[in-house]
Amino acid sequence: MKTSDPIDVASHCARAALGMMERHKVPPTPENFAIWYAFVAGRNPVLSDAINLILSGGGKFTQKVNEELYERFAVFGQDKAELREVGLRVEEAVGKVLEYLSNASSGTTNYGAALEHFSGRLSGAPAPDYLTDAVGAIMAETKTMVEINRQLEGNLESSSTEIVRLRNELDDLKREAATDALTQLSNRKMFDHALVMAIHNADETRSPLCLLMIDIDHFKQFNDTYGHPLGDQILKLVGRSLTDIVKVKDTAARYGGEEFAVILPETDLEAALQVAETIRGQVAAKRVTNRRTGQVLGQVTLSAGAARYVPGEDPESLVSRADQTLYLAKKDGRNRVKSEVDLAVAAKTSEGQ
Ligand code: GH3
Ligand code: MG
Ligand code: MG
Repeated sequence: MKTSDPIDVASHCARAALGMMERHKVPPTPENFAIWYAFVAGRNPVLSDAINLILSGGGKFTQKVNEELYERFAVFGQDKAELREVGLRVEEAVGKVLEYLSNASSGTTNYGAALEHFSGRLSGAPAPDYLTDAVGAIMAETKTMVEINRQLEGNLESSSTEIVRLRNELDDLKREAATDALTQLSNRKMFDHALVMAIHNADETRSPLCLLMIDIDHFKQFNDTYGHPLGDQILKLVGRSLTDIVKVKDTAARYGGEEFAVILPETDLEAALQVAETIRGQVAAKRVTNRRTGQVLGQVTLSAGAARYVPGEDPESLVSRADQTLYLAKKDGRNRVKSEVDLAVAAKTSEGQ
């Protein structure tokens, strides 16, 4: 991937992007331009798929669609990804210069050694003074060159250490920007991004994908009774349980206040229900104590809803179905897990009444 396109490629992409925007009646704002430029330049396959899907379906680029595209593809991590790319390139370049210098330096050292050898031979044999002087002067210059090379190598080496440090710092910042500070789970922004990616992968690999929405029961009451700091302690506890239970390929996120979401790729609804049940059971089995006073505060329960991705649906519709299922778990008495199958059954039952 290129960090920046050469100017001729860039102006070609810019013209093509503006042309397409005009054809599809997309207002030429900087935000829309950023998206269409990235589309024309083929920067992001998920973005390309998203736009191609709208184009092939004859969809309109309404203000809402444009805003969604920008929100999904332009804001998240784009600049940071590019910055990281720049770091990698500079690092690569410095590495090459270092290699070159090290070769040059060993060349100069060899040259110096050859001169020394030659001057040894000269001193053993009668030689004109001017020749001895000339060799001596060249030897002195060579020594200076070796020294300069060594200094340069040292400077470049510390620059390259600095670049590695900056890159690590950037990685940390990126991680921080995607993490919820209290629970250390993925934050909402990361969740939105991860869900789009998971849907893309599920479409590509035709594998199942499930989503859990989880909400702490009667949390307001808990906060009101024991205070906000203890409420925060509960959120951390739920965060830890989620981290312990889910696999690396899953994404556990803090969706909002006391609501959590788990993306489960390559997982069918039955397995997703088991994961939700494990989470619910593990949290319910804990006894929360006030660390300060030792007072046992009791049990924290969760309600959860599981929904399975239907190929072609958008992320919002999957989230909304999981949310409705969660609401059903609340309605049915809390501290339980429901699946979208229960949702269909509940709808039929209420129709029959
Ligand atoms: P339900 O079982 O229906 O979910 O009831 P609930 O009380 O959990 O739900 P409700 O939406 O009425 O209240 C959610 C509460 O979560 C309100 C708010 O005080 C609390 N909350 C949200 N974010 C935080 C947070 O970061 N820290 C703490 N301590 N509390 C929070
Ligand atoms: Mg709640
Ligand atoms: Mg809630």
